Amino acid sequence: MAGALFAGQFGCGGISEKIVVVGAGMAGLGAASSLKALGHEVVLLEARSRVGGRIYSTDLGDSRVELGASWIHGIQGNPLYAMAQRLGLETVATDYDSESAFDVDGVEFSDAQWARVEGWMERFYERAALEPDGSLQRLLEKFDGELGLSGPMRRFFWLAARIFVEIPEAVDAWEVAAGMANWESAFPGANEIVSGGLGQLAESLSEGLKIRFDTFVSEIHYDGKGVVLRAAPAESLVPNLACGGCHGSGAQPPVYENVIRADRVVVTLPLGVLKTGMVRFQPELPRSKRIAIERLGVGTMNKVILRFHETFWPRETSFFALAKEESSQAMELWNMEPDGVEKTLVAFMVGDQARNANVWNDQKAVELVMGDLRTMFGGGIPAPAAFVRSGWHTDLFALGSYPHVPPGASLSECDILAMPVGDRVFFAGDATDSEYMGTAHGAYLSGVRAAEEIRAVIG
Ligand SMILES: Cc1cc2nc3c(=O)[nH]c(=O)nc-3n(C[C@H](O)[C@H](O)[C@H](O)COP(=O)(O)OP(=O)(O)OC[C@H]3O[C@@H](n4cnc5c(N)ncnc54)[C@H](O)[C@@H]3O)c2cc1C
Repeated sequence: MAGALFAGQFGCGGISEKIVVVGAGMAGLGAASSLKALGHEVVLLEARSRVGGRIYSTDLGDSRVELGASWIHGIQGNPLYAMAQRLGLETVATDYDSESAFDVDGVEFSDAQWARVEGWMERFYERAALEPDGSLQRLLEKFDGELGLSGPMRRFFWLAARIFVEIPEAVDAWEVAAGMANWESAFPGANEIVSGGLGQLAESLSEGLKIRFDTFVSEIHYDGKGVVLRAAPAESLVPNLACGGCHGSGAQPPVYENVIRADRVVVTLPLGVLKTGMVRFQPELPRSKRIAIERLGVGTMNKVILRFHETFWPRETSFFALAKEESSQAMELWNMEPDGVEKTLVAFMVGDQARNANVWNDQKAVELVMGDLRTMFGGGIPAPAAFVRSGWHTDLFALGSYPHVPPGASLSECDILAMPVGDRVFFAGDATDSEYMGTAHGAYLSGVRAAEEIRAVIG
């Protein structure tokens, strides 16, 4: 093995160790900054050419929009909110209670219909707590049958399940356990966006850290003395990277040292990547961990973000939702105008709809959303001036959007995934936090937790 990045001894056991962190998303950045603060020599290995992972702020016209995470979910006690405050970043609360819902023919549901459907959802959540096993779909169908629903109110009930459960979980109802129907991964308080982009938090955390970009880790060897990682230039493995066109054209890929030795490693690979086995562990991970990786699910949410020359929808309403005969085709859009981002709508697709959209061309994806907007706001609405969309399902460094608990699994799988292997291989990432699974704050806290585990081992 040639070209070792670190020349130091394994297992020095002193205060300062050489520690590699795989992945520069919020988990990796949380771990690396904590470990650096403890005096360790830390290197992050990142397959993309940017930090943030599934936090990905980008420009659309003169708007700053989010292809990945948008909100700091709950500001009270949330470390990401505290970080934004420290950095003096402006944050804006989204009014989650401000939503208009429309039936298939574009007729808006009334306040009285909202009240009825919300009452049913409350009862459904109670029921789901009593019958947590089996899929959400099965329980929704049972409940629908018991209520004897039909026509517009039946469509509204299924639309409510879409917007309150399926979209937040990034799944179709058959993919997720019924017991997760009312599960909460947020801190208390408002849901806020960061003006100028959530990516600023990742960039700030990365300051002063040693990061090797475009470096795809393919093997992690470990024993009682240390770790050896094999990595390659990401471009040599995947010529058509879904990293936002961030790679220069025509440039030769940089030459990397491909063997990295360290005392310990923190692995923050997304669950979608762990599931493929693309990254080989030697010896292989314990059986319990492999089972947890298999049992947990990864949902897909994709966004189509449209920027218009003019606003043709009610400016003050935060969300618009459209019912469909087939509820998995229902649409929800976020109006960013009340949050200070002008003339911009974000369409959320989840589950099969999102996975299918991943392979559609741009025109088809935009036309789907435009068709739904025409149903809600009339045939005369203008075409978008610009758009951007995500493709998390086929993004090789994510392979999905965020984890969920399928029927037959439980949140305890996250705790198993979080457990270190020996005292050399540590795990963080949004699938390793059973309290805040699938969130940016959960990912960050998991990184801090992994750093703390290393501190405890070294003493
Ligand atoms: C569409 C969408 C909307 C979301 N909305 C919200 C929201 O509003 N609020 C919220 O809190 N959360 C939200 N989330 C979830 C949140 O973005 C994630 O939970 C969180 O960012 C995950 O952080 P992480 O560090 O665990 O993983 P990641 O951010 O995925 O970081 C892992 C890193 O590892 C890198 N990597 C992968 N494979 C390799 C390899 N072999 N070698 C080296 N590097 C590798 C990746 O490139 C990546 O940078 C959303 C996610 C998506 C996709």
